[in-house]
Amino acid sequence: MNTAYDTLINRIREIGKIHAIEEILDWDQQVCMPTRGVKARAEEVALLAGLAHDRLTDPEIGEVLARLDDRTGDPQVDANIRESRRAHERAVKVPADLVRAIARASSLAKEAWEAARRDADFASFAPHLATVVGLRRLVADHLGFADEPYDALIDEFEPGATTRDIAAIFAELRAGLVPLVQAIVASKRPVNTDILKRRYPIDAQRDFVSAIAIDMGFDFESGRLDQSTHPFTSGSFPGDVRLTTRYDENFLPMAIFGTMHEVGHGMYQQGLLPEHVFTPMGTPVSLGIHESQSRMWENMIGRSRAFWEHYYAQAQRCFAGALTDVTLNDFVAAVNAVTPTCIRVEADEVTYNLHIILRFELERDIIAGKLEVNDIPDAWNAKMAELLGITPPDEAQGCLQDIHWSMAAFGYFPTYSLGNLYAAQFYAAAEQAIPDLTNQIREGKLGTLLSWLRENIHRHGQRYRAGELVEQVTGHPLSVQAFIRYLREKYTPIYGL
Ligand code: ZN
Repeated sequence: MNTAYDTLINRIREIGKIHAIEEILDWDQQVCMPTRGVKARAEEVALLAGLAHDRLTDPEIGEVLARLDDRTGDPQVDANIRESRRAHERAVKVPADLVRAIARASSLAKEAWEAARRDADFASFAPHLATVVGLRRLVADHLGFADEPYDALIDEFEPGATTRDIAAIFAELRAGLVPLVQAIVASKRPVNTDILKRRYPIDAQRDFVSAIAIDMGFDFESGRLDQSTHPFTSGSFPGDVRLTTRYDENFLPMAIFGTMHEVGHGMYQQGLLPEHVFTPMGTPVSLGIHESQSRMWENMIGRSRAFWEHYYAQAQRCFAGALTDVTLNDFVAAVNAVTPTCIRVEADEVTYNLHIILRFELERDIIAGKLEVNDIPDAWNAKMAELLGITPPDEAQGCLQDIHWSMAAFGYFPTYSLGNLYAAQFYAAAEQAIPDLTNQIREGKLGTLLSWLRENIHRHGQRYRAGELVEQVTGHPLSVQAFIRYLREKYTPIYGL
């Protein structure tokens, strides 16, 4: 291998190590740091972020990249060069002053958002949001875009995805979901979710979800499961993957499906190849592909009847008394109940995507300058009525519910629904490749699916872009068909559609 490539990879690995240290500090802050450590920790993290940015924008990396061809004949080398070039070019295009201005503005906006949400008062947040939007538009201008500024922002989270492609996919998704939700709402078949709100002792929950994590294939010698207010997965090395979950004694699904979700993320991290650590080849493809792994385990496996045919008897034993009078069918229906509600993070797997479509459509217009910040509350409520048939009682449960905009994270939301679509299409391909997959799940054998995911998705790191990976694994470009089919097959028996 030529020296320029070695120099590049050494530099890129150093930056990867700085990010890995940032992740550990963040994990520590969310899991076990004393509250008074916050101020020092913010300074430590800011220092590391600055170091990583300085290294990534170092002109020497630019010089080395200029000497390297993107097509060397070795696909792994090509991927590392391509993605390093992308990261370097994105970093140098945005002036350091603008990066600092966004950090400052969003830290003020976050504070204003917390107060505004508490008081259900969008007007007090609006000027901060307008500043953040203006800065984000400037970033898009610096980065450049083909059609519209939102393209440049999406590209940060889902490299290669465009507004136009997502808009086309989401239009189909919307057309498939809205009538399905209407049919479910009109269904006369009752689903009793109160059974999930009985008393489920937290120690028993902890034992139950840990056992599931092991059965799923999460390697506890290369990872941990802890508790935090907001569950997350952290880890940039396959040998040290840290998951968190949370427990509610009076709401069983939170810990079970939250844990399965994070284990799905975590097993992706554990499935990256150690020899590529800290390089693009050892890094997940995109947020959307990452989310496909968590959603598949959480919903396609965890909320399937087949899964509970194996685990339900264990659950009944584990939560002594709480489920003895509940049939398997009633339990499966309860964990899959669909109800249009105002809050995205509490939404079921059908209506969830309508919350995302709403945000995508608004963000696109905000960034394009077609929707003024002051008009967001009305636009939000109109779309809620259109998509979900409900109106938020106040702005706190409407346009103020998410933290993302205060953090300037425009372009992030679409990756959640893309993840659901990727998951369904991957899962349909897995079912074709493993004809008795459902029977295996019924017997609690989850290893064949994990091996298939490792082989087809995890080990490739960033060798393929998301769109290419989907085509390569499933034989087709991304579409909504597999997801809509999956939902119809699941919900028809539950709601007697
Ligand atoms: Zn996730």
